[in-house]
Order: sequence, then C-alpha cells, then structure tokens
Amino acid sequence: MVSKPSVTATVYTARRQAFVGRGAAATKPLMSSGPPKAMTAFDNLGRPENLPDEIAQQLRTRILNESLAPGQRLPTEQELGAQFGVSRNVVREAIARLKLTGLVETRHGVGTFVCADLAMRPFEVSHDDLMDLAQLIHVHQLRVEIESGAAALAATHRTKAQLDTLQQTLKRVELASADWQVAAHTAVDFHLAVAHAANNPYFVRIMGHLSHVIHNAVRTFRFRNTGTPRIDEIGNEHVLIVDAIARQDSAAARHAMRTHLDNAMARYRKLLGDL
Ligand SMILES: [Zn+2]
Repeated sequence: MVSKPSVTATVYTARRQAFVGRGAAATKPLMSSGPPKAMTAFDNLGRPENLPDEIAQQLRTRILNESLAPGQRLPTEQELGAQFGVSRNVVREAIARLKLTGLVETRHGVGTFVCADLAMRPFEVSHDDLMDLAQLIHVHQLRVEIESGAAALAATHRTKAQLDTLQQTLKRVELASADWQVAAHTAVDFHLAVAHAANNPYFVRIMGHLSHVIHNAVRTFRFRNTGTPRIDEIGNEHVLIVDAIARQDSAAARHAMRTHLDNAMARYRKLLGDL
C-alpha cells in the first residue's frame, strides 16, 4: 500500500499558517508579565482528526508566548474539556504530551502547572513547528549549521568502514532514484551516516531527533520531483560531500554540505511557491 506524503497537510498548512496566520489570535501575547489575568477561551475544535495533538498545540502556544505564565496553574481537566468541547480523557492525553516535553508538571491533588523553568525543558522540534513556514526555515538553518559541522568532522574522524557505508548509501540512493519513497528513506540514511562518521555521539543524537523533519522535507521534494533533472543535481551534491570526506578535506566537506543544504532550502522554497 503506497501512501503519498501529506503534501496538502504539510505544505498547504505551512502556507496557510505562514501567510494567512491561522492561530494569530492564539499566538498573540495576551500577557507577558504581571499577575495572571482571566484566560480567554480556547478555540472550540469541532471534530478534527487528532484532538489531543490539537489541544496540546493550543496549550503549547499559550505556554510559549507566556499567556500561560511559568508556574501558573492550568484550568482543571473538566474546565478545559468544556472549553475545547471534548472529553476529559482527551484533555488528559493532551496534558500527557505536554508533560513529556517538559512544559507542564502535575502536582498530585493540587493540579497541573506550567513548569517554572522552561529553558531547561528537553530539546524539541515538534510536528507543529513544521506547520509554520517561518519555523520550518529556522529548523533548516539549525540543520545547515549542524550538518556542515558534522561533515567537516567526518572528513577528519571517519573510519574506513564509515567511508564505505557513506559510499554504499549513496549508491542505494542512486539505485532508488526512480522510487521516491525508497529514495527519500535512503537520502535521510545518507545524512545520518555523515553524522555517524563525525564520531561524536551528540551529532548522532541531534540528527536522530531532526530526522523526522528531514524525512518530511525529502519525501515532499522527491514526490514532486522524481524523474526531473533536480534529482540528478542532488545526487551530484551528495557525491561532492562524500568525495571531500574521502580525501579528508574538512573545509571542502563543510562547504559541500552547506551548499547542498542551501540549495535544498532554495528548492524547497520554490516548491512551496509552486504549490
Ligand atoms: Zn541530501
């Protein structure tokens, strides 16, 4: 069973949010300091596909713009359920998602509170971040810095076995080039293999965390462009990266990865513009 990437879900939503500004009211800082004021009502959701995620996102937005201030007590499950028009179970699931990412904590018998020190929360690029074009670009900028650094380190730290893996992965991407789904998977594998070759576990961890972002972008791009010369351009850019890593030229590897990802962003922007 072949499933297409959610171009409509990802790209159209990204454009809608970037240009029309869905949730503008929800993201407007309602208050940034002083004592908590009465909260405005949350958007009633009707019947969207994933209620807990939608609710978690509305709450996350309020927490991050401090309209729900650090340390502030959240409304009860019952109150939130009534505002969102959902059951308490759905609210509980949404709160569980926020707990996982360190945004709220539950004090038994007292209630759920916004964590006091949000700066200490675990690093997260949430699925919702990818629904907003400006955020998407920020994540991509982070990726450029991380991956060009990883490529530079890989040039000096890679083992022979890791170089073999990189070269084999490139071949797999090429062999799969007609099949956008397999090609997307192997292309992500290639970028993860560069991070492994840096021989620094933190690069592997952060790239693992970002891999869903990379996979989303690559799938969308491959879906739209398979069979066009653009796929060959990408192949050539990958070869330049591996060649620089093979000859242990750190500066060239850094430059080749940066160029590849800058081009990727330009291609992705064009793709969004074309839709
Ligand atoms: Zn690539």
